[in-house]
Amino acid sequence: MFEKVDADYLIVGAGASGMAFADTLLSESSATIILVDKEHKPGGHWNHAYPFVTLHQPSAFYGVSSKELSRGVIDKVGLNQGLNELASGAQINAYYCDLMHEAFLPSGRVFYFPRCEHLGDGVIRSLVTGETIQLGYQKLVDATYYKTSIPATHTPAFHVDQGVNFIPPNKLPFLAAPIKGVTIIGGGKTAIDSCLWLLEHGVPANNIMWVMPRDGWFIDRKNTQPSADFFFDSIGAQAAQMEAIAESTSLADMFLRLEKAGVFLRLDSEVLPKMFHGATVSKKELQLIQQVKNVIRQGRVLSLHHDKMRFEETEVNIPEGQTIVDCTASAISNLEITSVFKDNTITLQTVRAYQPVFSASFIAHIELTYPNIDKKNNLCRVVVLPNHDYDWIELTYQNMMNQFFWSKEPGLKTWLQNNRLDGFMKMVASVKFYEFKKLAVLNRMRKAAKPAIGKLKMYKAELGS
Ligand SMILES: Cc1cc2nc3c(=O)[nH]c(=O)nc-3n(C[C@H](O)[C@H](O)[C@H](O)COP(=O)(O)OP(=O)(O)OC[C@H]3O[C@@H](n4cnc5c(N)ncnc54)[C@H](O)[C@@H]3O)c2cc1C
Repeated sequence: MFEKVDADYLIVGAGASGMAFADTLLSESSATIILVDKEHKPGGHWNHAYPFVTLHQPSAFYGVSSKELSRGVIDKVGLNQGLNELASGAQINAYYCDLMHEAFLPSGRVFYFPRCEHLGDGVIRSLVTGETIQLGYQKLVDATYYKTSIPATHTPAFHVDQGVNFIPPNKLPFLAAPIKGVTIIGGGKTAIDSCLWLLEHGVPANNIMWVMPRDGWFIDRKNTQPSADFFFDSIGAQAAQMEAIAESTSLADMFLRLEKAGVFLRLDSEVLPKMFHGATVSKKELQLIQQVKNVIRQGRVLSLHHDKMRFEETEVNIPEGQTIVDCTASAISNLEITSVFKDNTITLQTVRAYQPVFSASFIAHIELTYPNIDKKNNLCRVVVLPNHDYDWIELTYQNMMNQFFWSKEPGLKTWLQNNRLDGFMKMVASVKFYEFKKLAVLNRMRKAAKPAIGKLKMYKAELGS
């Protein structure tokens, strides 16, 4: 039986975003919070992740600000060797459960309704008993806006004949028969992870067929390391990125310069990527997936049959006994932007590129710090989630502009430096006056920033955005 509850904030969605928002509210205010989620445990889509999933970014700046996720380990073996550890799906799930049971609930300020669906306006229904209840709240926080879609729970956008051996990656480690041949469908991080898993488990690259609807640019994980030892990689890559943009002579030239500068990687040097989803890989991972040579580049699959796949312009035969792995879920299925603050609703979106959890924490801080809704929205301009390669222009422009606006706000700099979800501010702030090589990198960045913004504006105009 439900008991009626009133709270300051009703957060719909106890995934990574809702949890990061709630955590900052708890740390920085005395607000009371209701968390509602259809899942029976916090963590959102991570509850259904494939068993071999890991973060693609270091654990050190994922999760919530108040609780460390990283164990401070540099991987000694494997494809991430030499880089900061990546939490597995199991570790992420345990982290959110511990957070809920050891911090959120004991605070006495969080009321958690797992396995309940929010029907709108504070009405929730238990997915266990069917009971409904009206909850009381001052502000509604929508932490479901991006509608994350993953293979285990989505419906493919193409027809699949009954009986085709078509599985989500979740089933790969549990297949009984020896795996003869595998077809991977999809060009994103899930497809990369599935290829890596197969190759690492001894499936010959020749036995893998990879259906690549679009090639994507990848980010080199070495450039996303938040610990001091990696200053010249992480901050150096940011400087190189600004210089590449500033010195570019056209849009096409800019992407090639970014690749030359080590900012972007790609699967095949002969194929120009048309997609950018922010997938992050290590060089070792890239080298391994490059062993797969049977890559089908015919656009999207239109239908899947026992012996063939249909594409818009052609058909491709599927050898007998193939296992076909569905890596076509698009992760973020809602790319439309809306105001973060509107009346009494807060819609969580990214205000820093590729960083949903940092963004949720930042938005909570702005909610608590500034009374004026226009000011709040000005500080929380949404950074687009990228899909096409050229979306990277808008994303980078907005990201740089947000950073600029935030730097003008007294107090924000210190907040950013103290937030564990901000990977790099601390690293930059800790540079000493005698560390000339590091200062030189920061100087390169400062010098290139203005011309880079100018070029991005120019390319935006060319693209009509
Ligand atoms: C394989 C994979 C790897 C990733 N790696 C990274 C990474 O390294 N770094 C990174 O920053 N991001 C990564 N991401 C992106 C990732 O999606 C985000 O980091 C984050 O987990 C998204 O969380 P969310 O809370 O926004 O969404 P979700 O996890 O989708 O949570 C939303 C929750 O809302 C609930 N919900 C929806 N509607 C209702 C309703 N009406 N009533 C009640 N509850 C509702 C859902 O049940 C769900 O639990 C990765 C994504 C995938 C798929």
